[in-house]
Amino acid sequence: MGIIKVMDEDLANKIAAGEVVEKCMNVVKELVENSIDASSDEIIIRLEESGINKIEVEDNGIGMDKEDAKCAFLRHATSKLSSVEDLFYISSLGFRGEALPSIASISKIRLKTSNGIEGCIINIDGGEIKSIKSSDLSKGTKITVENLFYNTPVRLKYLKNPYIELSYIVDYINKMALSYPSIKFILINNGKELLHTSGDGNLLKVIYSIYGSDITKKMIDISGENDDYYISGYISYPEIAKSSKSSITILVNGRVIKNNRLNKIITLCYDTYIPKGKTPIVILNIDVDPILIDVNIHPTKMDIKFSKMEVLEELIKEVISKRLKEINLIPSISTRDYLSTIEVIETNKNIINNNFEDKKDNNTNNTNNTNNTNNITYEEIKLDLNIEEDKEDYEHVEFHIKEMIPKCIIFLTYIICENEDGMYIVDQHAAAERVNYEKIMDSFNNNIKKYDLLVPIKIELKKDEILIIKDRLDILNDLGFEIEEFGDNTIIIRTYPSFIKENMEEEVIRSLIDKVIEDKTFDKEKFIWRMVSTIACRMSVKANDYLSLEDAKYILNNLRKCKNPFTCPHGRPTIISYTKYELEKLFKRVM
Ligand code: ADP
Ligand code: MG
Repeated sequence: MGIIKVMDEDLANKIAAGEVVEKCMNVVKELVENSIDASSDEIIIRLEESGINKIEVEDNGIGMDKEDAKCAFLRHATSKLSSVEDLFYISSLGFRGEALPSIASISKIRLKTSNGIEGCIINIDGGEIKSIKSSDLSKGTKITVENLFYNTPVRLKYLKNPYIELSYIVDYINKMALSYPSIKFILINNGKELLHTSGDGNLLKVIYSIYGSDITKKMIDISGENDDYYISGYISYPEIAKSSKSSITILVNGRVIKNNRLNKIITLCYDTYIPKGKTPIVILNIDVDPILIDVNIHPTKMDIKFSKMEVLEELIKEVISKRLKEINLIPSISTRDYLSTIEVIETNKNIINNNFEDKKDNNTNNTNNTNNTNNITYEEIKLDLNIEEDKEDYEHVEFHIKEMIPKCIIFLTYIICENEDGMYIVDQHAAAERVNYEKIMDSFNNNIKKYDLLVPIKIELKKDEILIIKDRLDILNDLGFEIEEFGDNTIIIRTYPSFIKENMEEEVIRSLIDKVIEDKTFDKEKFIWRMVSTIACRMSVKANDYLSLEDAKYILNNLRKCKNPFTCPHGRPTIISYTKYELEKLFKRVM
């Protein structure tokens, strides 16, 4: 009895802050959304140390008078919602009235605001108003948040390093700029401008500010409608597909949302046009009567519920698929900087096949199948597996498996082989991948040699992606990749490690950079594993590639020498075996 108490305001705010604020990005998001709700058409975001030291958001919106300014920091105080009915027609980005009191409870805030008639400056420390003064009357609001989490040290510890915090913010502001082409966004960190849009309403110009000119040239507009939805925006040519899911931006009535189902539908439209695991760049605006959506899910999840989801999916599929069919989908080889993965693979295949054709002319005794130039040839398998000179010291190793004699290959994928112990079915890709993986790991542990790239590779990236690469520069350098920033949006790779085979450098480097960007939560061990397995996979013969029995023998022998010949680096089996006894039992020759 008497043990239940109503929380005091400060404690309730701190708990709410725990839900709303995890990263610096969450503070930026709340402040920028308030500026948008206040009808601003210019928003300047200034950060110090990626927001860890200071976040300042200045707008030219409607501002507040003194009374409202004080009220804004009270829990559940909002000007955007006053009745339950309003919940069904939410058109503002905020409505909970939780953000400002939450942020104020875990930081030091200075608010300067004016509605053009009355203005004030309020200082708040850990949620407590310390001073209120009158200010000049320039209309708009400037909120400065310093010492985030200063009174909750445990949460401070969970902030990621500055590059990663900043990459979240840049990604978010990019998305807002795409959502609101009529608002001028300026983002500055430590005095350096990271984004500056014109705010003149032209979405393609915003795409240009974020992605640069090469990608902008490869974007096409889409639009379409049905009874419930109107969709519009831009989609990329398939050739510039990215590996990061965040290349799809979806907006519903101007609100950036995350919705895996819609991401999937969009990516599916590109099925067969782009390699598996890649995503196109898409900016999709969905306009809908607010009654058909529910935004009241979770403050940070950014997801919403649609009540006529199937109708929306159909519309998206129809509009994107139709547009993709209309455009000419043959990628242009001339833009070297934007060679897609497909092109790179094709180029490499051609180089390999040409090399092989040359050799064949000189050596007519060669019996390998080369009639079909699309097939990967013996030459390439040698190329894949001969990463280093074979080591002779294997003689001392006790092999897990006795020498296996390949008998045939079925489904262009499985090598059927035998030895005195039994019969084996070996997956040619998984096996080659395991062999390459262990060889790379070996050379990795014995000092990495670096080679200069004849033509350094330039890769154009978004700023948030560049920040992630910058954070990993040291380790990439340790791994043999010398990488520098080159201009605003580009990195340049000058060297590569010797374990990458000639002619594969560009493809491997590009997929590696993609992997680094994807992997935001960084763990060195895991990173090395991912990197080496990516390289191994790229370098290995694939399923459905033609393999002669000679090639198969080469793979099998190398596989036997592996420390773990039984699985590929991703854990899938390389070998299935039947002992002679098992076979005899199956055929009931023994009981
Ligand atoms: P919500 O956005 O959910 O209403 P907040 O705590 O973010 O809650 O903001 C509280 C109130 O403060 C808003 O409803 C709005 O009236 C006022 N406010 C906050 N930021 C601004 C701004 N930049 N310009 C004008 N008014 C603002
Ligand atoms: Mg708000």
